[in-house]
Amino acid sequence: LQDKLNKAIKTLKGQGRITDINVAATIKEVRRALTDADVNYKVAKEVTDRVKEKALDRKVLIAVEPGQLFVKIVQEELTELMGGQAESINTKGDPAVILIAGLQGSGKTTFSGKLSAYLKKQGRGVLLVAADIYRPAAIDQLKVLGEQVGVEVYAEPENKNAVEIARNAIAHAKKTGKKIVIVDTAGRLAVDEQMMQEIENVKAAINPSETLFVVDSMTGQDAVNTAKTFNDRLNFDGVVLTKLDGDARGGAALSIRSVVEKPIKFISTGEKMEALDVFYPDRMASRILGMGDVISLVEKAQQAFDEDEAKRINAKMRANKFDFSDFLSQLQQIKKMGNIKDLLGMIPGMGKMIKDLDIDNNSFAPIEAIINSMTPKERSNPDLIDASRKKRIAAGSGTTIQQVNNLLKQFDEMRKMMKKMNTMQASGKLNKMMK
Ligand code: GDP
Ligand code: MG
Repeated sequence: LQDKLNKAIKTLKGQGRITDINVAATIKEVRRALTDADVNYKVAKEVTDRVKEKALDRKVLIAVEPGQLFVKIVQEELTELMGGQAESINTKGDPAVILIAGLQGSGKTTFSGKLSAYLKKQGRGVLLVAADIYRPAAIDQLKVLGEQVGVEVYAEPENKNAVEIARNAIAHAKKTGKKIVIVDTAGRLAVDEQMMQEIENVKAAINPSETLFVVDSMTGQDAVNTAKTFNDRLNFDGVVLTKLDGDARGGAALSIRSVVEKPIKFISTGEKMEALDVFYPDRMASRILGMGDVISLVEKAQQAFDEDEAKRINAKMRANKFDFSDFLSQLQQIKKMGNIKDLLGMIPGMGKMIKDLDIDNNSFAPIEAIINSMTPKERSNPDLIDASRKKRIAAGSGTTIQQVNNLLKQFDEMRKMMKKMNTMQASGKLNKMMK
């Protein structure tokens, strides 16, 4: 999918703005990329229609790069499509009962073990129940997992009635003070009536606080159909996507959510008991886009960063002409961008200065006040600032002479640093150092 998207985004590269024409071409590519990643056509079309609308809407923005802005819009749409936010499971009840349903081989038993470990870590007393009555090996499998994670497993090897087993298990949990019961059930290789009826009966008998449908993400479009069938019968509360450690790109995650309108709650990413994660729609969207954290950086930068201004200031830095007006302008840019510590790296030469000042957003106020109290001449030529000017600036900005001195000193150091960097860069030393 990433290759396809990259290709789509290339269409936008080198173009200063997102226009009707290049968006249309890119949209087509993105839609194809999504359908290739198992997103069904209807869903893919919905996504791309909204992306197109947004992209055209925002063309007035001067983006850092239009391609990145576009990726960001796609990312937002994908996130939205997958529910926007992470959703937790309902563990109310005494005991709370969690019913696990899905096809054979989807990863139910493995997930049951993982979930029990996950809840146990939160300090809950958990009981695992082996209600797969068709495969004797299923009981042993759950027992092994239970032992591994230190959770008791309830089983009745001779009993062929899943409803009874589940009921007895709940009674056992009550007796032993377990607060959560996880019922692992039998699956079939394909949807069949007997299995559906059985799981329906179990659900009706034990009234779970949470019914989770487990589905193998590698089964692609089939996963969506299976989800729909199970949901029609069980009206489950959430989805668990398994085997996301393979090269499944998560296309199934996209369509399942919009087709069954139930949230994905967990993802399973391996056979080990630790390989369980809460499902975060934004992370999945990033994964699908293969962009990682770059996206959030772009997003922040884009909200506030005026690229032209940055270029102008950068040029002044290179020419050793960076002055207090530029500094003020940069401070204002940074402030607009939100969390400073996250953004340190984005401003050339500023990192050290900010670190030394131990700055948070509030620490800007006195600095801004001081610079605002300088005359334009003083800003461009700080050497002018003698004792009497310092006094005036301090009084005007409501700060102390000490604070003015500090700022001047730090600013001077920063300029020296920039100069040094420029010289090093000119002589190629910096490049060598970076290698
Ligand atoms: P069940 O029939 O639904 O209970 O499925 P199982 O839990 O027995 O899992 C079927 C197979 O898939 C087993 O070999 C598991 O080890 C494997 N499996 C389950 N979840 C994952 C996962 O997230 N990643 C990988 N790679 N394998 C998994
Ligand atoms: Mg099983």
